[in-house]
Amino acid sequence: MDIYCTTCGEPWAVDSLHDAVDEGNASDYQDARMIFFGSGCGTLFNNRPCERPETGGPAAMRANVTAALLDVLGDDLDGIASELEGAAWMFD
Ligand SMILES: [Zn+2]
Repeated sequence: MDIYCTTCGEPWAVDSLHDAVDEGNASDYQDARMIFFGSGCGTLFNNRPCERPETGGPAAMRANVTAALLDVLGDDLDGIASELEGAAWMFD
């Protein structure tokens, strides 16, 4: 299942946060999670910030819906990914 970057809306597998730790981009899973949702996927995976997408487009919708689910579900990334999968029709 995927989660979306709350900055740019790019999809990432939930397990990719573990990969970021394994690759030395974060000290632990919680650190990876904080960087991913705080600074964006670019900072976590590419060592440079990613950019906000065009307002109103599908990438912006993915980013905004993920941010809203993060507010509601908090640390439950599997729950967030599950909700996003159910909401995929919104992102086309
Ligand atoms: Zn991003």
